[in-house]
Amino acid sequence: MTSPACIFCKIIKGDIPSFKLFESDKVFAFLDIQPLSRGHALVIPKFHGAKLTDIPDEYLTELLPVAKKIAQATGAEDFNVLQNNGRAAHQLVDHVHFHVIPKPNEKEGLGISWPAQ
Ligand code: IMP
Repeated sequence: MTSPACIFCKIIKGDIPSFKLFESDKVFAFLDIQPLSRGHALVIPKFHGAKLTDIPDEYLTELLPVAKKIAQATGAEDFNVLQNNGRAAHQLVDHVHFHVIPKPNEKEGLGISWPAQ
């Protein structure tokens, strides 16, 4: 299920360009356009819904393993995985997304080959 006006649905379809990190039949992951740290990624279901409560479990169960793989791929020892629901919770894009935000190791930086942003 997609929504024609949704920017993340457009990213899934390829109508808006993104730096894709992962794609399966139920999940899409790409770099955040305004990263809080290098490698900041978004993991989204290929099912349009604004809040976690709108998304069928069959999609939700595939999201966290992808977030885990991306967090591991950054090489970051410390990272955040977070997901906002509603304006009061600072959600800006109304298509469920998990942020994966690596915390750079102060001594070594991030051991990843993604482009600097
Ligand atoms: P929220 O506040 O949890 O809804 O976060 C939305 C995130 O989507 C923000 O971190 C934005 O930088 C990111 N974002 C918005 N538009 C795009 C885009 O076109 N490509 C990649 N990331 C986007």
